[in-house]
Amino acid sequence: MKHISVAIDGPSGAGKSTLARRAAKALGFRYLDTGAIYRTVGLAARDAGADPDDPAAVTALLPGLDLAIAFDGDDVQHMYLGGRDVSGAIRENDISRWASRVSAIQGVRDFLLETQRRFARENDVVMDGRDIGTVVLPGADVKVFLTADPEDRAMRRYRELRELGQSVDYDSVLAQVLERDRIDTTRAAAPLRQAEDAVLLDTTGLAQEESLSRLLHIIRERLGTL
Ligand code: C5P
Repeated sequence: MKHISVAIDGPSGAGKSTLARRAAKALGFRYLDTGAIYRTVGLAARDAGADPDDPAAVTALLPGLDLAIAFDGDDVQHMYLGGRDVSGAIRENDISRWASRVSAIQGVRDFLLETQRRFARENDVVMDGRDIGTVVLPGADVKVFLTADPEDRAMRRYRELRELGQSVDYDSVLAQVLERDRIDTTRAAAPLRQAEDAVLLDTTGLAQEESLSRLLHIIRERLGTL
């Protein structure tokens, strides 16, 4: 049976993961957070003391990487590294930088490509990331490019980190958002860009419920299930 795939791409902090997770639940699909996979590689590079900007050093780690994705009873994605549940550790603010640096390496992207594609072959899925609609699933049934102004995205990320108990200030979060945008959009390997056939959803100033209802509307319209 052919499975349905929904690709959601966009810059960090646009609300992709929360909205993709909620949309998947509403549709009865699986949600795959591909950023969590890149974050796990970033964590592995940090733990190994590898230079995240050195492609040879990072790709040398990949064959020995014991990385696994599992879902608990509530369909929540957990990432494992060497048998250890690192789902909490990969959310540390510091890991965002490691993730965006290792994810600029083509060898890392190639290494993770088949895992992501297999997941879409085996499940009805809402998958979020940076290159899902352009590279991973160019034939996805629905593609959405989810974005918001940098200030809006920084404020969301700032609140999220505060809720996780991390001490951060808004200005440095904004600077990090802009820096990650720069890295993600200018890298040679699968830069962040809107696929030609993706629907643009700008969530600037929108409450989460409104964003979710617009997202579900786009998906259902495209799937013909409105
Ligand atoms: O989505 P999240 O912020 O958790 O992703 C962490 C980093 O992983 C991003 O900054 C981005 O550079 C990278 N990433 C990627 N391709 C994806 C998902 C994430 O390059 N499909």
